[in-house]
Amino acid sequence: MPQLTIDIGGRPGIDCRGFCEYCYFRRVKGVHAFGCRHCPPFTVGCAYCTKSVQERYPGFKDLQAVAEDTLASLQLMSGEISRVTISGGGDPSCYPKFRELIEISASMEAPLHIGYTSGKGFDDPAIAQFLIDQGLREISFTVFSVNPSLRRQYMHDPTPEVSLHVLERLCEEVEVYAAAVVLPGVNDREELLRTAEWLEEKGAKGLILMRFANTREQGLILDNAPIRKGQRVHSVEEFRDLVTLMHERFRIKISGTPLWDPEIGSPFVIREEKELLDCLPRIQRRATVITGTIAAPFLRGILDQCGGGCQVLPVEKEIACLITREDLEGIDLSCLGKTVILPGRAFVHDREAEKILTADGCNREVVRGPDTLTADAETSMGMTRAGVLDLEMEQIAALIRIINRYGE
Ligand code: SF4
Repeated sequence: MPQLTIDIGGRPGIDCRGFCEYCYFRRVKGVHAFGCRHCPPFTVGCAYCTKSVQERYPGFKDLQAVAEDTLASLQLMSGEISRVTISGGGDPSCYPKFRELIEISASMEAPLHIGYTSGKGFDDPAIAQFLIDQGLREISFTVFSVNPSLRRQYMHDPTPEVSLHVLERLCEEVEVYAAAVVLPGVNDREELLRTAEWLEEKGAKGLILMRFANTREQGLILDNAPIRKGQRVHSVEEFRDLVTLMHERFRIKISGTPLWDPEIGSPFVIREEKELLDCLPRIQRRATVITGTIAAPFLRGILDQCGGGCQVLPVEKEIACLITREDLEGIDLSCLGKTVILPGRAFVHDREAEKILTADGCNREVVRGPDTLTADAETSMGMTRAGVLDLEMEQIAALIRIINRYGE
C-alpha cells in the first residue's frame, strides 16, 4: 500500500531553534559536490549529493506549498494510503503553523507518523493531547536526556520541561521511539540509565543510542570536523558494549547506530544462520569489495562462507555509505584485483572512482554494489529478525550476482 511523505523543508540547526551541540550539520560551510550514483554520467554533482546530503533547503515551505505538494503526490498514488509521514530538514515541532500542518496531515485518515523531532519547538503542554486527538500513531523523538538542564544546555531547548511533558504524554498513547546521541561524560552513565528508566516507565517503545562522531573517519564528511573540540568519543567496541549493557538492563528495545541491535543480532545477523548462508548463490568469480571498517569483518566472514576467493577491503571510513573520493585515494592500488565493487551509496562519481582506482595504469572494472547489505538500528528498530534476514538475504545475493557477473 502506498505511503505518503509530507516534506516541510527547513534547514537543520536554523529551522530547529539553533544548533544542538552535537548536530552533524554544525559548522558546515558549503561543500563541493561529492558525486554519487544519481549523478549524470559526465557531471559530478546532482541534487542528491549537493543539496539533499547537506539538507540544504531554503527554509520551511509555507503551509500552502506543503498542501499543494501533498496534493500533487496524492494524485500520483492509487489505493488506500497506509501511512503518512511528516519529514523535512527542519524540525517539525518548530514548524510555524504546526497545528494546521497536523490537521492537513491527519485529514488523509491514515496512520500519522512524525519522522523526526527534537521536541524543541513544543512550548505548550496541550500540544500532546492535540497530537493524540489528531490520530498520531508514531513519533521519533530525540530525547538526548530527561534531565531538563542537559536538554537546555546541549540542545538549546528553551522549554525542556514542556518538551519532556509532551514526550511523557505521547509515550502513554503513541508509539514513541526515542533517540539520544551519546556524548561521553555528558549524557552517558548515570544520566543515560535515568533516561532509559524514565522512557521505560512512561511507555516508550524503544531507544536508539547514536554514537557521537567527531572526525572524518567516523563519518563527518561535510568538512566540519571536529564538531566539539576535545570531546571524547566512544570507540566502536566501547559503544557496542554500552548498547549490550543497556539492552540487558531494560525491557524496552535498546539498539545503537552505527551498530548494533542486540535483540535482532544485526548488522549482518545472517552470519549466524548457516542454513540461510547455504541458500545464497555461490561465488564463482573474484573481485575486491570495498567497504567501511565496521562492515568489513562481517562481510568477509559471510562471503568466505559463500565460496570465498573475494577480497574485502576496508577504507579509512567506519560507515560504508559515507565513503568519499578521499577514501578511495587512500587505497594502495597494488592490493586491488581487476574488478572492484563499491558500496552502492558511496559518495563518489562513477567516473572519478574509476580514474582514482586505475591511476596506476592497471585496467580495472569498477562497479557499484547494492545500496545496502544490512539494516542499521534506525532501520531495524521497527523490524523483526525475520524481516532483517530477508533484507540481508536479498541484498547479499545481489552482491554475489554482481561479483559473478563482473568478477575475474
Ligand atoms: S534538532 Fe536535530 S537537526 Fe536540529 S540542530 Fe538539533 S540535531 Fe541538528
